Amino acid sequence: MHISCGYAKKLIHECDFCKGSIVMSEPIFRGVWYLWKRQHRRYWHFNCYIDQAKLYLELNPFVPSEHVNGGRPRMDISPGDRRNRKNLLVQASKVRTQMKEVVEYKFPGWELNLESLQFRLRILAERIEPIGGVPKKWFT
Ligand SMILES: [Zn+2]
Repeated sequence: MHISCGYAKKLIHECDFCKGSIVMSEPIFRGVWYLWKRQHRRYWHFNCYIDQAKLYLELNPFVPSEHVNGGRPRMDISPGDRRNRKNLLVQASKVRTQMKEVVEYKFPGWELNLESLQFRLRILAERIEPIGGVPKKWFT
């Protein structure tokens, strides 16, 4: 339904809320919608529409969302640490992707390659340990 407001251009028989008539030039809300290609209209006194809306809001009170900022709460670390931690997470993600590829394609010398990648991941783990800990999925 499309709602707009304006003035009654003529006498309107029935307000959809109070069922009273609406005099010409009174402020009104108009509702228009289409069903099976037929146009339907509804009219309200300006104040009746507001009352109806208030009633609706009272019957449907505000419910705060459980996910206020979406996802997990922020870690309690300094902005600098947060930046470092993010850098380390990105680096580790790249290393882990490479590890997956090495294991998948097994090019000659892949074991050595994997070892060096594991070594890099351990170094990253040591650096991230004091700023929020090592994510569990790194070593699974
Ligand atoms: Zn009314």
